[in-house]
Amino acid sequence: MPALRESDAAFALEGVTRAFGEVRAVDNVSLTFARGRTSILIGSSGSGKSTVLRLLLGLEWPDAGVVLCDGDRLRRDALPEVRRRVGYVIQDGGLFPHLSVLANLALLPRHLGWHAARVRERASELSELTHLHANLLTRFPAELSGGQRQRVALMRALMLDPPTLLLDEPLGALDPLVRHGLQDELREIFGRLGKTVIMVTHDLAEAAFFSRRLILMRRGRVVQDGSLDDFRIAPADAFVREFLAAHRSLPGAAT
Ligand code: ADP
Ligand code: MG
Repeated sequence: MPALRESDAAFALEGVTRAFGEVRAVDNVSLTFARGRTSILIGSSGSGKSTVLRLLLGLEWPDAGVVLCDGDRLRRDALPEVRRRVGYVIQDGGLFPHLSVLANLALLPRHLGWHAARVRERASELSELTHLHANLLTRFPAELSGGQRQRVALMRALMLDPPTLLLDEPLGALDPLVRHGLQDELREIFGRLGKTVIMVTHDLAEAAFFSRRLILMRRGRVVQDGSLDDFRIAPADAFVREFLAAHRSLPGAAT
């Protein structure tokens, strides 16, 4: 693959470090995220995946290094504009429990001055896209299943039709059947909409299902950046082998 020019990248980190006390949550990380592609951040809990997303959104600031958005250094005064162009789903979905689905979806658009009718129209478009029954728009989050709540979190991230989506373990809390179905749907949606997607997961099968580009993190560093085949054929170190081995396949039928 030819080297990516900075201007082709939706986001980039250059030598970024972010520490919390003694812990380097992100430790001298350089990454480029291509426009229109899905990239996966994968790694054990505590490896720095969520912090990378938070740095891209300016919810954290680097202690060293720079974050680039569309080729420009991320600046505090540009954050409102950046956040308008980036849909973000936080780890547990982050829906406000005291607001109906529609009111959750309406928060940002209303803040930007959309009329209620426009919000309703967009919500109904997205309920079709994400297969959330439109009857559910008046419910509260607690009245939805886990899968439905994740659909709503995704809808909320898509309200402004942002070119980029940052998704932090969007399917993490779901049971296997629901998760499997949503994986199919999400992949289809990402492909169809042509979004730049940066998604966090700790599940290798899910990672490989969504993208050929997996970024494996450990203790704030990028251990390997490549496809699942690269990981298998040329693991960067013993940890990569260990990480692959930790994802068991189903045992054979008992004899
Ligand atoms: P992951 O998403 O891969 O589980 P995180 O990026 O959330 O990992 O965290 C990486 C490390 O940084 C962990 O050790 C975590 O405890 C620490 N960390 C993250 N955010 C904070 C914070 N706001 N304050 C203190 N420590 C933090
Ligand atoms: Mg996390």
